[in-house]
Amino acid sequence: MRQPLVMGNWKMNGRRSMVESLLKVVMADIGELSGVEVAVCPPYPYVGLVMDRLAAHSTVVCGAQDVSAYADGAYTGEVSAEMARDVGCRFAIIGHSERRTLFGETDAVVAQKFARSLAADLTPVLCVGETSAERDAGRTQEVVLRQLSAVFKECGSGAFERAVVAYEPVWAIGTGRAASPEEAQAVHRFIRDVITRQNAPAAGRLRILYGGSVKAQNARELFGQDDIDGGLIGGASLVGADFVSICRAAGIG
Ligand code: PEP
Repeated sequence: MRQPLVMGNWKMNGRRSMVESLLKVVMADIGELSGVEVAVCPPYPYVGLVMDRLAAHSTVVCGAQDVSAYADGAYTGEVSAEMARDVGCRFAIIGHSERRTLFGETDAVVAQKFARSLAADLTPVLCVGETSAERDAGRTQEVVLRQLSAVFKECGSGAFERAVVAYEPVWAIGTGRAASPEEAQAVHRFIRDVITRQNAPAAGRLRILYGGSVKAQNARELFGQDDIDGGLIGGASLVGADFVSICRAAGIG
């Protein structure tokens, strides 16, 4: 039995006041929720504030939106996985499509970040998914396989023993057009099958999140699929009541 996980990716949004009010809602309403692990991923400048406010709260943890592919050293502007762990992050989103497309992260760089996270005792959340053109060309499985293979190449067959995968079709992110539960389930099944071929016990335990226009209205049906173990939530994680509804849906999905 895999414990559902719901993660909020705030992206580059927020100010101190937003962080305070959002967390107030989330912490008040998630208190009674059992069986679901919840993480919020603020921009780095607010990680300290989030850690401070979450201190008395056992259900919600903090995650990083990205880490450097390098260890500590002369890399101006970067934040190492060790630093993210040191300030209290438990998860690190790795290879989000915005990082891949806007900042040119290759599969190899993403795999290095994944390895750095594991070494720093941060749980990497590897984002995979196809663009709309790749989907239209029937290349979804090929793309996802390539993205997973880069991580196996860097980290070996044990790569996903302590990790999370997020299937995030690029065409569904921030568009209001989520994959249908059946479409998402088919890709999640494919991901689990690929990982099973390398490491069956790890694949059985692996949490595979769906991300891409998850809302309070569609969360329950998505999370009800056999291989969908929760969600990575962008826009809806910035609205406290919506995020809480999505977390609840993961508990009953
Ligand atoms: C994301 O940023 O990872 C994401 C899934 O965004 P949204 O929920 O807004 O589609």
